[in-house]
Amino acid sequence: MNLVFLGPPGSGKGTQAKRLSERLKAFHLSTGDLLREGVKNGTPLGKKAQKYMEAGELVPDELIVGLIEEKMASGILDKGYILDGFPRTVPQAEALKAMLDRNKKKIEMAVLLDVPDEEVIKRLSIRAGIEGRADDADVNTVKNRLDVYKKQTQPILDFYEKERILKKVHGLGHIDEITERLYKAITGK
Ligand code: AMP
Repeated sequence: MNLVFLGPPGSGKGTQAKRLSERLKAFHLSTGDLLREGVKNGTPLGKKAQKYMEAGELVPDELIVGLIEEKMASGILDKGYILDGFPRTVPQAEALKAMLDRNKKKIEMAVLLDVPDEEVIKRLSIRAGIEGRADDADVNTVKNRLDVYKKQTQPILDFYEKERILKKVHGLGHIDEITERLYKAITGK
């Protein structure tokens, strides 16, 4: 199965994408994880991405689309995948669709993990303490990431609604309960 996971920063999207990918035997591809790794290892992509990430801004579309094209071409996604953190803008969603159309492939479902703003802000400040992520530590960066989500990422919901593949899942509750809810929404079981 080929899936896209959507949700605001701090919605639990990354944790749940990882859990579901194990259960569905799909490849978990997190652009945020790949970029953080690139920054840590000082790769050319990491060097270009760092300043945007630290400010809570999005990395330019062409860099991210290039990264996804590279992963698609490598074959690691051939047996199904969950895209976590991509697409993040309408042009990225369009680029993904074009990429898949060329190969006669498609995304079966775009899943939104729905969590209200107040909860997101609370969770991100907790995560800053636990994971020490630089972009969670500063309250202004957190607010900026939420703003960026609303302005640049939320319009993707309309894109997938029009494609008739959007599924909204309530993101509050116990972590295991949310995994079950997602599993059911995705598989119907
Ligand atoms: P995440 O771990 O998904 O919250 O991503 C952390 C940061 O990486 C984001 O705040 C962006 O700066 C950058 N990033 C991750 N995925 C993308 C994407 N698809 N497009 C642009 N920037 C991204």
